[in-house]
Amino acid sequence: MIPYGRQDITQADIDAVIAVLKSVNLTQGPTIEEFERSVMAHTGALHAVAVNSATSALHIACLALDLGPGDWLWTTPNTFVASANCALYCGAKVEFVDTDPHTYNLCPAKLEAKLIAAEKAGKLPKIVVPVHLTGQACDMAAIHALGGKYGFKIIEDASHAIGGQYKGEPIGNGRYSDITVFSFHPVKIITTAEGGMALTNSAELATRLGLLRSHGITRDPTLMTEPIHGPWYYQQVALGFNYRMTDMQAALGVSQMTRLNDYVKRRHDIAKRYNELLAALPLTLPWQHPDSYSAYHLYVVRLRLDKIRVTHRQVFEALRAKDIMVNLHYIPVHTQPFYQKMGFKQGDYPDAEQYYREAISIPMHVNLTDKDLQIVANCLREAIGL
Ligand SMILES: *Cc1c(COP(=O)(O)O)cnc(C)c1O
Repeated sequence: MIPYGRQDITQADIDAVIAVLKSVNLTQGPTIEEFERSVMAHTGALHAVAVNSATSALHIACLALDLGPGDWLWTTPNTFVASANCALYCGAKVEFVDTDPHTYNLCPAKLEAKLIAAEKAGKLPKIVVPVHLTGQACDMAAIHALGGKYGFKIIEDASHAIGGQYKGEPIGNGRYSDITVFSFHPVKIITTAEGGMALTNSAELATRLGLLRSHGITRDPTLMTEPIHGPWYYQQVALGFNYRMTDMQAALGVSQMTRLNDYVKRRHDIAKRYNELLAALPLTLPWQHPDSYSAYHLYVVRLRLDKIRVTHRQVFEALRAKDIMVNLHYIPVHTQPFYQKMGFKQGDYPDAEQYYREAISIPMHVNLTDKDLQIVANCLREAIGL
């Protein structure tokens, strides 16, 4: 079986986790800070808050930016549901902006058109969440410029994109956004089993994120509203959650971070090889914007359905039957039953829907061998009926 994505765990990773198990702090100890510092050093962001998932990071990022009832959050329909659900957790409403047909990312021109209409209707978004699909950065300069003009905040959902770059700088440095979120789920670029992180250059946002991660409780006298009662004292100053990451997970993260650049390089080599192996097939291969150095979380091919005699589903099933665990990223969020109940319907976002009818994520992870890649390419050719 060849999975579409899989973690890479070394003996060094295992030793790092065991060392924490033998130490004093199993959670919220020094290893969390070490992991945060390591991701800050990689990205150049000034602050980082490690949490138990990217979903949690998105939730507290929205809260830190004051998203609440009556507010709107806009994101792309071509994403995992968490990018939109975070608004609903806060009692806010969701709208989507359709995608660019080449990058499959949120399209800045469509965003601008929608902003112009929303301004007239008095329904401008408070937050826009661009998602760096497959690890390729969105057109952040354009989105950031629109943020300045229309007054929305930006949370980058970079769950696919740690290790990637935009205009020659690391994704996560916060040049074009208020907060960036990474995921460390096992299929992502690096893993902590479950885990996520929120990065920002704002000390104030970092403080809020830190409070929200752990019950809204602080031991920092400068954040307290009355004098401390004694050494035991803490105050709850906000309504937070238990979204903490454990130190075992952070140790795995620190160890994985040492291989991040190698991982992304390896993913580029695999993409290059796929580009060669698949060049002659009736497929649209991943187009790369010159501003982007992708983290290559995914390698998505689109079937040229006008050129083949089998259906998308038949190709998908034929590959699965050969134990090639292809996947599909993503079912457009607005077509999920939960979102259809809110009034969204098929046809609302045609580019994301067209992509969904043609896209297949083929295996992409660092331990694929050249033989694996050839098997995938051959099976894909057969599945297409050539
Ligand atoms: C994986 C993913 C998430 C959620 O990440 P978790 O760490 O599993 O919560 C959110 N957004 C996108 C785009 C993802 O791919």
